[in-house]
Amino acid sequence: MRAVKAIIHLDNFRHNIEKAREKAGARTGLCAPVKADAYGHGAVPVARAALEAGASHLAVATVSEGAELRQAGIKAPVFLFSQALPGEMEEIAALDLIPLVGDREAAEVLAKAGRRLEVHLKVDTGMGRMGARPENAAELAAFIVSQKSLKLGGVATHLSVSDSLEPADIAYTKGQLSRFRGAVDSIKAAGLDPGLIHAANSGALCFHEDAYFDLVRPGIFLYGYSPAAGIPEGLDAEPVMELRGAVVFIKKVFKGEDISYGRTWTAPEDTYIGTLPVGYADGLPRLLSNRHSVYIKGRAYPQVGRICMDQCMINLGPETDVKRWDEAIIFGPGAVTAADMAAKIGTISYEITCNINKRVPRVYI
Ligand SMILES: *Cc1c(COP(=O)(O)O)cnc(C)c1O
Repeated sequence: MRAVKAIIHLDNFRHNIEKAREKAGARTGLCAPVKADAYGHGAVPVARAALEAGASHLAVATVSEGAELRQAGIKAPVFLFSQALPGEMEEIAALDLIPLVGDREAAEVLAKAGRRLEVHLKVDTGMGRMGARPENAAELAAFIVSQKSLKLGGVATHLSVSDSLEPADIAYTKGQLSRFRGAVDSIKAAGLDPGLIHAANSGALCFHEDAYFDLVRPGIFLYGYSPAAGIPEGLDAEPVMELRGAVVFIKKVFKGEDISYGRTWTAPEDTYIGTLPVGYADGLPRLLSNRHSVYIKGRAYPQVGRICMDQCMINLGPETDVKRWDEAIIFGPGAVTAADMAAKIGTISYEITCNINKRVPRVYI
């Protein structure tokens, strides 16, 4: 095994599932999104843990992600969040995925997929990504119901600013939810059963109880990170991923000597420099060069010099008890978190965990 690994704390993941289920209430189902290899954590083990902890549904973004779950023997209902291609419809049916359908053309193609398929109608209430306009939802629902090979299993929407506590954004979310309820009501008014109603991502789980309906779909919350505005008290989520790497080399460097590409860091005094076997190809963003700290035995050490493709350096100080092969926590619970890293470089925790490369072994504990 490599000297760098991503420890996946499934106990923390199960804790977060429990918190989400408590918050959503006993009558509300929980869909665990495991798209993008479970936000970088590893789709199959995370999906299994989610189901054991009481998730009712899973979700993927691509057909091949769905195939991976089925090949592992996972039988739970799996949503396909992203628009499928016409050539993928038979595989979707064979894998028994539940596509979200936002227009008649997609519904027509799915109706010819060769076996009866459950679909959920996606309404675009203001995300602007995919879905039927609210005023067209009833017509699309009627078309789906008219197709013998399709079953209308639910109606969904997606919220674009549910993670923000800015008054204008709260009002926008309220508007999205009211358009969504209008669409659902119009389907009911047409005499059709809309099935499962769902809208809530992590932001809505935290801040919009009126978005829970029959099923919530929080992603990042389950991986231990808050949506933008933070997590309300009592809803503590624990980070699930911990990136660790052994110090593989230690050397003494004299005052005035330079470290790494571009000579962006010069030793201000005689000091010990450690090398970690993790770089931007592993997913440690190069933009964090000279702006990150790792933890060794509970103490923080600054990363110094440019982060290389496969390695980076840390300053252990003029005197150190750190030894070769000691383990450094690059990020994770109890150390610098993916959210801290993201904030420094203007992105979100999602991107940090998703980008941890597949060449980094995942270890599940
Ligand atoms: C990714 C995704 C989610 C989960 O979003 P988070 O912000 O991670 O909670 C929910 N619903 C849909 C449709 C998604 O694409």
